[in-house]
Parts: sequence; structure tokens; C-alpha cells
Amino acid sequence: MARFTLPRDIYFGKGTIDELKNLKGKKAIVVVGGGSMKRFGFLDKVVENLNAAGIETKLFEGVEPDPSVETVMKGAAVMREFEPDWIVAIGGGSPIDAAKAMWAFYEYPDVKFEDLCVPFGFPTLRQKARFLAIPSTSGTATEVTAFSVITDYQKGIKYPLADFNITPDVAIVDPDLAETMPPKLVAHTGMDALTHAIEAYVSTVHSPFTDPLAIKAIQMVMQYLPASFDGCMAAREQMHYAQCLAGMAFSNALLGIVHSMAHKTGAAFSTGHIPHGCANAIYLPYVIKYNAKVMDAAKRYEDIANALGLDGVEALCHRIDEYNVKLGIPKTLKDFGIVEAEFKEKLSAIAENAIGDACTGSNPRVPTQEEMEKLFTAIYYGEEVDF
Ligand code: FE
Repeated sequence: MARFTLPRDIYFGKGTIDELKNLKGKKAIVVVGGGSMKRFGFLDKVVENLNAAGIETKLFEGVEPDPSVETVMKGAAVMREFEPDWIVAIGGGSPIDAAKAMWAFYEYPDVKFEDLCVPFGFPTLRQKARFLAIPSTSGTATEVTAFSVITDYQKGIKYPLADFNITPDVAIVDPDLAETMPPKLVAHTGMDALTHAIEAYVSTVHSPFTDPLAIKAIQMVMQYLPASFDGCMAAREQMHYAQCLAGMAFSNALLGIVHSMAHKTGAAFSTGHIPHGCANAIYLPYVIKYNAKVMDAAKRYEDIANALGLDGVEALCHRIDEYNVKLGIPKTLKDFGIVEAEFKEKLSAIAENAIGDACTGSNPRVPTQEEMEKLFTAIYYGEEVDF
């Protein structure tokens, strides 16, 4: 059996944050991050709209980037005391991801975190509350996906949670919020969205339900990302929708090894964090060339190239390279600033971790340890991928 799950309602367009006025409920907890939503006045709008709907509100503020297990537990405790029937999460990926996990511990106080890490093993949610998400960045699409990433800082591990129970009930995709993004964040999150759509399209579990969403998202990102990066707000609006379409595709078709590799290298080097979307953007053209050695995958990449009016897989990779140059994204891990000695020392462990990542299972080519090490080496030095 295959399943295709999306939010019940997706409101989109400028000013749709005011749709909150029409929400039916009694009590809403509003989960938010570090302060930009407050500074730009969006948090006030959320609270005013909910109050206008006759809904009592309580804030849970200060969800950190890469939210921790502790934050999740704190939020769940606040929810158990306040007893909301709506969870409203607003901001970048982090507060929405954290709120998804809080939701599970609110409804099931005795569940163990380890149990939630079993893919598609969540208990049945919506016994106490429903979930509404309002994204402020144009990349993760967590407002429509079945995923959440929570970090256990004591163990130094990122846990990807995956279950259709945590696909939100309502998403409000209001481009006014995306206007606050600085250009570098536009670049990284935009390339993350492109990677979601391309990986979903070539995934081994892609379907006729996900393919059109993926292709349309790819076309829109390629059309609008450069202008959005340059500050055109009409293009930024389209990017906000494109990333959401990409999310609808990959939530149901899953991802591939670009994400496996980005997950396991993001925090691996002492020289600093590699932002998720930046890592994806660097790895994407190399992985396309590697995957395209498999005939079925090559055909899928050719579909993508055709949809963009490009002639074949090489041209597709070349176009992605051009976008990376335009967006200020380096071509290699060396150029990013990873030290050669540290790269060599950690190569075998990183390759092993990437193979073990949850996203590897739906990649169209199954990498061996040797191939994964060669792939990372090619990406480090900017070498051709001919294996
Ligand atoms: Fe991603």
C-alpha cells in the first residue's frame, strides 16, 4: 500500500495570516523561535487574529535553531498545563519542527523519545489538539511534511522523526513572512527546496501523485530563485509556493543521498557548521552524475532537463553549477573551507554515516562504502564523477 498525505487546508497568498481569524477552537499555544517574527510584527498579528476568533492564546517563545530534546520536553509540559486544542507554530523550520515533537509528548506524556524515532511508528495524534504551521523561510516546507528534526545535544545526534501523524492540519503560506529573509538564507533555503524536488522526482518511491508536484516545483525554483535572491518580492512570493510544492512531493516520495550526505556533514567539521541548504547545493550536481550511471535514474533526470528546456543530464548539472555561482555557493568542500587533513581523517566515518542515513533507502542508486568515499573526495576537490 502507498499513501499520500497532505494538510487538510493550505492557505496561500499575501496577508493569509489573517485567515487565523476564522479558526474554530478554544485555546491555542503559539510556538515561535528567536525573535524575528516578534520584531517584524507577525507574532502580534497571530495573537490578535486568534483572539479575534475568540481563542485564548499562550506563547512558547525561544525555540533555538536545531531544537533540542529539552526544548521539546519543556514545550510539552507547558502544553499539558495549558491544554490547548490548537498548536500554532510560526517561523523557520525549527519552531515548527519542535512543535511537532511537543505535540506527541503533549498527547502521550509517557511515550519514549526513542519510540518516536521509529519511522512511521507514532501513536495516533489529534486526541487533544490539531496543528497549524506558518513558515517564514522558503525551504524546509515543514508546514506540509511528515518530518521533524530534533537534536540530542548530549549524544550529539540529530533525530529525524517521520510520521504522517505529524503532517500539519493547516498550513498558512503567506509570502509576507518570507520577505524578511536575508539573501544568503534565500540562496540556501532555495537550493534546499530544489534538492527536495529533484530527489523526490528520482526517488525509488516516487509516484504519479508526487511527480507533478516535484516537476512544477523544479520549474518554479529555476524560474524565480535568482530574482528572489536579488530582492524581487514578486519572485520571492513564487519561491514561497514552490518550496511548499516541493515539500508536498518529498513528504510522500522521500529523498536521496544528497540529504544523507548533508545530514552527516552539517556538524562534522571543526571549522564550523555547513548550512543544510548550502551543503545540498554543493553536493547536488555530483550526486546527479553519480546516480545517472543507473539507467532508470538517468531517464528521470532527463525528464527534469526536458521540463526545463535543457538537453540532457550534463546540461542540468551545468545549470545547477551556474545557479550556485550566482548565489555565492562554493563548488567544493575545499572552497567552503574544510581543512584537507581533517577531511581525510574523517572521510571513512562520514561516508559510513551517510550510507546509514534514513534518506539513503530511497536513493535510486545504492552506494557502497568505496563509492561514497569517492563521491565525497570528488566533492572535496571538485573532480569529475566517472564511477
Ligand atoms: Fe532539506
